[in-house]
Amino acid sequence: MSVENTTPVPVPSDFIRDIVAADVTANRYAKIVTRFPPEPNGYLHIGHAKSICLNFGIAKEQGGVCNLRFDDTNPAKEEAEYVDSITTDVKWLIAGWADHCLGFKAKGAHPAAITSNGKPDQYLGSVPPSATSEPFFASDYFDALHAYAIALIKRGKAYVCDLSPKETEEYRGAPDKPGKDSPFRNRSVEENLDLFQRMTAGEFPDGARSLRSKIDMTSPNMWLRDPLLYRIRHIPHYHAGAKWCVYPLYDYAHCLSDYLEGVSHSLCSLEFVPHRPLYDWVLESLGLPRPLPHQYEFAKLVPAYTLLSKRNILRLVQENVVAGWDDPRLPTLSGLRRRGVPASAIRAFVTGVGVTTFNSVTDIAVFEHAVRNELNTTAERRLGVLKPIKIVLTNIAEGETVDCKATNNPQAETPTTRAIALTREVFIETDDFAEVPPPKYFRLKPGGEVRLKYACIIKCDELVKDANGAITEIRCTAQLDTRSGQPNSDKKVKGTIHWVSATQAIDAEVRLYDRLFTVPEPGAEEDFMKALNPKSLEVVSAKLEPSLANAKSGESFQFERLGYFSIDPKDSASGKLVFNRTITLKDTWAK
Ligand code: ATP
Ligand code: MG
Repeated sequence: MSVENTTPVPVPSDFIRDIVAADVTANRYAKIVTRFPPEPNGYLHIGHAKSICLNFGIAKEQGGVCNLRFDDTNPAKEEAEYVDSITTDVKWLIAGWADHCLGFKAKGAHPAAITSNGKPDQYLGSVPPSATSEPFFASDYFDALHAYAIALIKRGKAYVCDLSPKETEEYRGAPDKPGKDSPFRNRSVEENLDLFQRMTAGEFPDGARSLRSKIDMTSPNMWLRDPLLYRIRHIPHYHAGAKWCVYPLYDYAHCLSDYLEGVSHSLCSLEFVPHRPLYDWVLESLGLPRPLPHQYEFAKLVPAYTLLSKRNILRLVQENVVAGWDDPRLPTLSGLRRRGVPASAIRAFVTGVGVTTFNSVTDIAVFEHAVRNELNTTAERRLGVLKPIKIVLTNIAEGETVDCKATNNPQAETPTTRAIALTREVFIETDDFAEVPPPKYFRLKPGGEVRLKYACIIKCDELVKDANGAITEIRCTAQLDTRSGQPNSDKKVKGTIHWVSATQAIDAEVRLYDRLFTVPEPGAEEDFMKALNPKSLEVVSAKLEPSLANAKSGESFQFERLGYFSIDPKDSASGKLVFNRTITLKDTWAK
């Protein structure tokens, strides 16, 4: 039985929180509104968790809201399956922590209805999400974005350009070479309005024309060289349907979506620093009523020994390196959840890493520490043997049971216990027995003594072998007077091992996971497929104490001496238990 730890993690301040606090003091916004804007082109990963915790964390601290918005302006790559998985993952990550800050779209509100102050107030709800609350979609703003594009044309700030995509690229120049004005740059407003209307009506094929901003083809910032606002794409959209054949570009849609939702602070990763002048240009050029949203950038989370980008994870999925987006070896939120990593551990990890403006690789040990730290306080202890070998306790009769008590939660203020039974036949870990032991081997060996945890000391008396010399039986005696509460309970031996009763144990498949890559920065390799760890998954047939038959998905257990484990929510069934190892007890890579 495990309980989610809801104790708040102290949040250190950072430069973004300082900016928000100053804006609150100066009363710059009626309300602090942030957003988490994933593109629905894959599943969320732990890097996204950093952005989610920052955006929801700020909303929570400032009594504001954070909108989950699908940034879905590219109809070629986006799918409803991803919308569902992302929504589930975000809600899982913030549950019990910041779910009251989830911004919601009032049911029935017309998505693109803009009020007289230029904003659709119905998007700014702060009522706790209900069964009817829905996430936001940039594609719900297509009408509004189109109307804003017409406004830009009328203000002489946008033009229809007939250069092909290839020519457009050539005219753009290079960072050290100014671009050239498009020959279509000085079209009249009337001609631009007419051509944009005909583009929208579907008169022209893909790539034949585009709507471009009129900024500066010689700007040192490449993003200001008349960037595209709209392009022609004769593809239906998974959410907006078949209505459109012109689609807005990310930079144009993003700032306006923020504006429409009343976002105050738009937080993104560092690669968007050069896009910020364009973000501001669009909002300024439309002369929109204040206050305007502002963009701030922070360094992405890059954990070692893993690959984040959705594009890379998609390749691992498509090439069957892993068994789907929720494979427990992946850094996806659904993979981590399936592996048994609690949402609170992910939040503690990404919050602890902090918010800065320099890129660095985060040691995976930091993540593993956060997981162990969390599970150590919440996961109950159980006994399980992963690679069993049987021993016989010759002084216990067949059918006899010796009652023992095991502690469930040694970390708790008032620990509780459960009954376990010692029987004639017991499984121990294959590694805990050595016929020819190395020096300083304190586990079971011929003639040696060891303590069976929560039971008693046993002594290995005799090995029975078959004609080929293979061991068929390990015969031991149980020193029953060394049990707790018995006269010799304080007898000391050097080794204590875990065990399960062979007659009472249940069978389970246990999946042992290791890092997916053998190098700290697989993304920096020429081909990350060559850096795959061939031993990232090992499946064993384990013997577990019988109480684990009732384990529920979502519960975590510490199998003593082995690590933290939880039911595989997808493949486990009653009568065919499957457990995943979430994490070992110690860092096995440290050496
Ligand atoms: P990916 O390349 O993994 O698909 P992305 O940045 O394209 O990442 P989006 O769906 O656009 O993914 O991301 C939504 C939000 O999450 C963005 O604001 C983005 O900056 C942020 N984000 C993505 N990856 C990370 C990361 N590793 N660390 C912190 N924030 C991230
Ligand atoms: Mg992306």
